[in-house]
Amino acid sequence: MVNEMERRIGEISGVNVDACYLCGKCSAGCLFTEQMDLLPHQVIMYIQRGDDSVLNKETPWICASCFTCSVRCPRGIDVAAVMEGLREIQIRKRGYQKLDLKKIENLEDLPQIAVTAAAQKLTW
Ligand code: SF4
Ligand code: SF4
Repeated sequence: MVNEMERRIGEISGVNVDACYLCGKCSAGCLFTEQMDLLPHQVIMYIQRGDDSVLNKETPWICASCFTCSVRCPRGIDVAAVMEGLREIQIRKRGYQKLDLKKIENLEDLPQIAVTAAAQKLTW
């Protein structure tokens, strides 16, 4: 039976996290795990368990939306979309934002991928 977290993530991202068999390949390829408080495959595991404490973790905000995990997943799970879904739930819930692009100086001098990753975190 689909739990509430799975349902909400599925609705926003179109991803069925139940298909994940927790092989850890997504985490193995992620370049940002040292900064994360939960590894990408653990994020999926929390959602499978219906544990909404995942919404209090920093990992979705550290995620750079590089899609490495999504490309590597043997089950075709778009982990990056799940991270975006978690950010969206937080934003919808309490207008929560980690980044304010307007406060970043010299935005035009930053690497394009960094700006894109930051902007992804500002979607409603
Ligand atoms: S790579 Fe795919 S199947 Fe493996 S743990 Fe990550 S999301 Fe699950
Ligand atoms: S999309 Fe996010 S979780 Fe996936 S590999 Fe990139 S930084 Fe890591």
